[in-house]
Amino acid sequence: MTDTPHIAVVIVGAGGTGLCAALAAADAGAEVLVIERDPTPLGSTAMSTGLIPAAGTPEQAAAGIEDSPARFAADILGKTKGATDAAIALRLAEESAETIAWLRDTHHVPLALVDGFLYPGHSVRRMYGTPNRTGGELMAALEEAAAKAGVMILTDAAVVDVIAEGDRVKGVMLRRPDGAIETIGCDALILACSGFGGNADLVARWIPDMIGAVYHGHPGNKGDAVRWGEALGGAVADMSGYQGHGGLAAGHGIPILWPVIMEGGFQVNSDGRRFSNEATGYSEQATRVNAQAGHVAWSIFDERLHRLMLDFDDYRDALRAGAVIEAESVADLAEAARLPADALVETVAQVADYVAGAADPFGRDFTGKAPLAGPFFAVKVTGALFHTQGGLVVDSDGRVLTVDGARLPNLFAGGGAARGISGPGADGYMAGNGLLTATTFGKLAGRAAAAQTLPS
Ligand SMILES: Cc1cc2nc3c(=O)[nH]c(=O)nc-3n(C[C@H](O)[C@H](O)[C@H](O)COP(=O)(O)OP(=O)(O)OC[C@H]3O[C@@H](n4cnc5c(N)ncnc54)[C@H](O)[C@@H]3O)c2cc1C
Repeated sequence: MTDTPHIAVVIVGAGGTGLCAALAAADAGAEVLVIERDPTPLGSTAMSTGLIPAAGTPEQAAAGIEDSPARFAADILGKTKGATDAAIALRLAEESAETIAWLRDTHHVPLALVDGFLYPGHSVRRMYGTPNRTGGELMAALEEAAAKAGVMILTDAAVVDVIAEGDRVKGVMLRRPDGAIETIGCDALILACSGFGGNADLVARWIPDMIGAVYHGHPGNKGDAVRWGEALGGAVADMSGYQGHGGLAAGHGIPILWPVIMEGGFQVNSDGRRFSNEATGYSEQATRVNAQAGHVAWSIFDERLHRLMLDFDDYRDALRAGAVIEAESVADLAEAARLPADALVETVAQVADYVAGAADPFGRDFTGKAPLAGPFFAVKVTGALFHTQGGLVVDSDGRVLTVDGARLPNLFAGGGAARGISGPGADGYMAGNGLLTATTFGKLAGRAAAAQTLPS
């Protein structure tokens, strides 16, 4: 590799993980290059709601929210029923507040504590988001910060192979749109090219629950990190873990986010009947929705929840796209949604009883919510795969580990490329796990890779 260009830290993938890793490495003084297959850095990060959790922040304290890294880690472990690495969960929780402060104060990413609702599994409010709650806003801010920090981003460049001697990475080989092959040498490589949701064969192999389900993540995420990492002796774990979503507007591909459910909405099937405890989590709800006739359900809510949802860009898109049905009465809503009116009227009345204290046969606690009051709203939804959660096993600095637990000499991974903190199923995914691992593992891997390549 004598004649090839050489960069200290090379990062594959310019999503949230890659750009956070690049910012951290550049802050530490390392020369850094991000290589991205697409013409523009977007990734699943740009498709996301951009909500990032953080615990023990000054803004939480000012709002009277009692939180701590230990509490956050306990919530993560609780959602996975203990089926994730407790030390990694705690490290990410401990780093989470600093990640937000670093992105906002050093790199001017407009993040603020989000008010108004709790996601399943989080015991307190700890989500940070951009003004319109979009991953597009987050990516635009990260890209601008990267430009200001002097980070080089090579787009239209798909990495096709990792060049190594033994288990030490020497560089990468990439392909340009015209088919030209180039090589770039490096001292450390960070895999930030996410999971395998865009690879139907791997999804069928590892996540059979999602065979045939809509994939609503970045199509360029083909599982390359896992392939390269394993070839170097890296271990993988939780390959069956994933972030599903039980509320993707059917035929529109727009997520109807879970605050609408958590604040009192619910889902019915084509019989106009509820079929689950929707509040356990949107991720596990995907397979429950897909088990209904036609693989669809209807999210049912009212004017109050409609107003809450107007804070979200996705919801405003759904309104513009005509995905949201509105009617003055439940019977009219049923007619517009082509649901059986008697059944839907009865279901709405049953939920009002649960709000008043009657026991829900599915075990959901509706108390403290308001009963739905007209006008009423419905969106037809399906269950989707958003993001895979399994990947390369890493230590608390994002260094890839072998099956024996040894560190590979100069290979790092974060975000969707690494094993997440969601365990081996869909039900362990807690909202925010994706961008927590993207931003914080990105930051940690960037700092560690830079430290390794800079003279001490
Ligand atoms: C609709 C939706 C909503 C979500 N909402 C949230 C949320 O609110 N909060 C949360 O925490 N998580 C959320 N998530 C999950 C979150 O988006 C992901 O966990 C996170 O974006 C992963 O970041 P990443 O950088 O690892 O991957 P990505 O953002 O997908 O970036 C990976 C990049 O690598 C590039 N790439 C892949 N292979 C190669 C290659 N061979 N060569 C070069 N480049 C390559 C891809 O083109 C891509 O740009 C959501 C996901 C979706 C789909």
